[in-house]
Amino acid sequence: MQVQNYINGRWVAARKGHTFESLNPATGEVLAEVAKSTTDDVQDAVAAAKAAYPKWRALPAPKRGEILFRIGELLVQRKEELSRLVTTEMGKVLAEGRGDVQEAIDMTYYMAAEGRRSFGQTVPSELPNKFAMSIRDSVGVVAAITPWNFPVAIPSWKITAALIMGNTVVFKPASDTPALAAAFVRIFEEAGLPAGVLNLITGPGGEVGNALVDHDDVKVISFTGSTEAGVAVTKRGADKLKRISLELGGKNAVIVMDDADLDLAVEGIVWSAFGTSGQRCTAASRVIVHRAVRQQLADKLVARINKLRLGDGLLATTDVGPVINSKQLDRIHSYMARAKKDGNEILTGGEPYKGQGAGGGFFYSPTLIGSVKRNDVVAQEEIFGPVTAMIEVGSLDEAIEVNNDTAFGLSSSIYTANVNNAFKAMRDVTTGILYVNAGTIGAEVHLPFGGTRGTGNGHREGGQTVLDTFSEWKTLYIDYSGKLQRAQIDEI
Ligand code: NAD
Repeated sequence: MQVQNYINGRWVAARKGHTFESLNPATGEVLAEVAKSTTDDVQDAVAAAKAAYPKWRALPAPKRGEILFRIGELLVQRKEELSRLVTTEMGKVLAEGRGDVQEAIDMTYYMAAEGRRSFGQTVPSELPNKFAMSIRDSVGVVAAITPWNFPVAIPSWKITAALIMGNTVVFKPASDTPALAAAFVRIFEEAGLPAGVLNLITGPGGEVGNALVDHDDVKVISFTGSTEAGVAVTKRGADKLKRISLELGGKNAVIVMDDADLDLAVEGIVWSAFGTSGQRCTAASRVIVHRAVRQQLADKLVARINKLRLGDGLLATTDVGPVINSKQLDRIHSYMARAKKDGNEILTGGEPYKGQGAGGGFFYSPTLIGSVKRNDVVAQEEIFGPVTAMIEVGSLDEAIEVNNDTAFGLSSSIYTANVNNAFKAMRDVTTGILYVNAGTIGAEVHLPFGGTRGTGNGHREGGQTVLDTFSEWKTLYIDYSGKLQRAQIDEI
């Protein structure tokens, strides 16, 4: 398979003709040969997006919405084909690949309908014969820079929201999932999106990312990825006061209280910690458990984890797929030595998986680490693999304190049968998302998504909140009194 850039409505090779490879992480085989773009390609893509902007902005929002509806319908038709490609290029099991595509369908329909809403406000003026309102306007060219772990859903969050607000887009996907990016963009093309409104450039985050951030004509950077890269983007864009929306890492926890339904908690933890092989920004990489039920929960978890079957995500028998690449596999494994150094105990897993079904792929055994203290490395750093760390506490107050005590603030969960505990957690947990009696994953597109501290910079994707990233508020005053009226000035 060949993946090219999509610039001004045409599929083109990178100007310098260079390419790189995208692999199937379940087999290690080459899946696609991909355009390796450089600054020149970024210039072309931004120029195309800039040229297409005035006409797209002038198209009435409900008409923009009609194109998004068509995209939603094509996504429904292609769901199975795209989902299989998600599994083949990114590795998550097919059921989750379908979930990835479904999220994009949900988001596309949601934003399509926004074409007939995009509410502003009308409020009374303090002066007679004067009308006051606020409306949203577009901003210009948006750069959408995305990670590989939700290769269809995350681009949809950014691109559909940017487009419905009247912006044009340059999309830079992660280098591990470029074939999916191209398949997604093809659907926009087929739905009749005008040339230049959405452009795709593939290539390394350093050069291509920097060129996008530096470009004077790129007005908004919507970035999802690691905290390290998010900070680099922010620093680089600061001199030009770029509008930058960041969705970064997480170190999410499930709190299990002594009154919790433990079997329900086990299901929630396994799904949240090992779904997508733990490669979700909202993955449960900590379990904060009340002392009274620690041993019981640990035993149940180990028994359940040991039943998980690893393998190619296309097989119906597979529960957990591979991790994204060999570098990530090594990185995950490096945490085991660090855990042992901190005196932690590997309760199960802790090794690359080379058993049945592993083939040439990049598999890591689902891992539960016990005897973890709140400030140990595995309790603080984002591992981004099928690894979760169990921390014992003695009370709800302590659980919440430990939950809030990391550099990240994305998602939390509490399992409790006590309504007072639940409400206390809702009040005092300081992450952007909290689930009660459900795991840390499962966001729905029509609610705000994002986190506090090192997880971002205050923006939220999803919900109505995402529109703020991609629009400029314009406040309008219309004076129909026919005379000078002065706000805030006393009339004598
Ligand atoms: P990454 O930061 O390595 O890459 C993300 C994207 O940024 C890629 O397209 C990459 O090419 C590009 N990039 C890298 N360096 C850049 C730079 N200096 N300037 C501009 N662009 C650059 O992240 P990843 O490994 O692809 O994804 C995993 C990370 O993403 C994890 O930390 C995870 O928590 C995070 N994530 C967060 C959310 C969220 O919504 N909070 C969702 C998914 C993933």
